[in-house]
Amino acid sequence: MTTKLINFSKYSSIKIGQEIEVSVLESCSDFNDTFFLLGSCNNTLIGINPPPLMILSKKYDYIKIEDNLLKIGGATPSGKIASFCKKHNIANFEFVSHLPGTLGGLVFMNAGLKEFEIFNHLITISTCSGIKNKQDIQYGYRFTDINTPILEASFEMSYGFDKEKVALFKKMRSNQPSTPSAGSCFKNPKGDYAGRLIEAVGLKGKRVGGMEFSSIHANFLVNHGDGIFEDAIYLIREAQKRVYEMFEINLECEIIVLEKNI
Ligand SMILES: Cc1cc2nc3c(=O)[nH]c(=O)nc-3n(C[C@H](O)[C@H](O)[C@H](O)COP(=O)(O)OP(=O)(O)OC[C@H]3O[C@@H](n4cnc5c(N)ncnc54)[C@H](O)[C@@H]3O)c2cc1C
Repeated sequence: MTTKLINFSKYSSIKIGQEIEVSVLESCSDFNDTFFLLGSCNNTLIGINPPPLMILSKKYDYIKIEDNLLKIGGATPSGKIASFCKKHNIANFEFVSHLPGTLGGLVFMNAGLKEFEIFNHLITISTCSGIKNKQDIQYGYRFTDINTPILEASFEMSYGFDKEKVALFKKMRSNQPSTPSAGSCFKNPKGDYAGRLIEAVGLKGKRVGGMEFSSIHANFLVNHGDGIFEDAIYLIREAQKRVYEMFEINLECEIIVLEKNI
């Protein structure tokens, strides 16, 4: 099995982490449950003692039209998907131009913007446990029950790339900070907003070391440059504690925290 040295303070979107030797999945025989499979680390916070990490090999970075379906490899970056759809005038993927990640990460998280979610036009996924149809997968808001590496996904295809949607998604992003983060820190509880709750307990703009619940959008835990894992986890726990004390609501992390010792 091949490995790759990755510096997570550069690779991860939140710019936290050390250099780690990561295994590369060339075929499913390389994988077992002791590994945590990463995409491009846009939704993940690397801890001090993370589990053994694995990424998909570059051979899973492709996008093609076949049998009137859009077939996308698990390691394909969202930017490449957006450019391909624009070039080939394909509809329904405009929103991924503003969603950083790989296809595997997008499908696993059922990533999306408002009602535009990656599952909307999904047909099947090809995984290390075989092919799964959409109807065999449980999914919802930032949730799926997938527990195996996603190697490829096929989507129904229609033509008509919509530039106006790209502009709309860009506008939706305008109230979010551009400082490094891992996207939304917590899932929105049913009928409420995590950002509102963080603000209500006095943590909007709260900074510890280099980490801050952004003063632009409180549900973004941003790194001002020298933020470390301990500062991030302190703020996450403080928000969960205060929100529970004041509202009896358990704030569930949307960010995936990879640390064996918590
Ligand atoms: C600035 C910013 C804004 C964001 N805005 C949004 C938003 O509006 N909506 C939204 O939904 N998300 C948003 N995100 C989060 C992020 O874009 C998505 O969660 C994306 O799906 C992460 O993809 P990734 O490849 O980086 O996944 P990673 O962070 O590497 O992994 C996330 C999860 O996916 C799993 N995974 C990754 N690849 C595979 C695979 N091949 N097979 C099986 N499982 C896999 C991992 O095991 C992990 O559990 C934002 C992030 C940032 C940094």
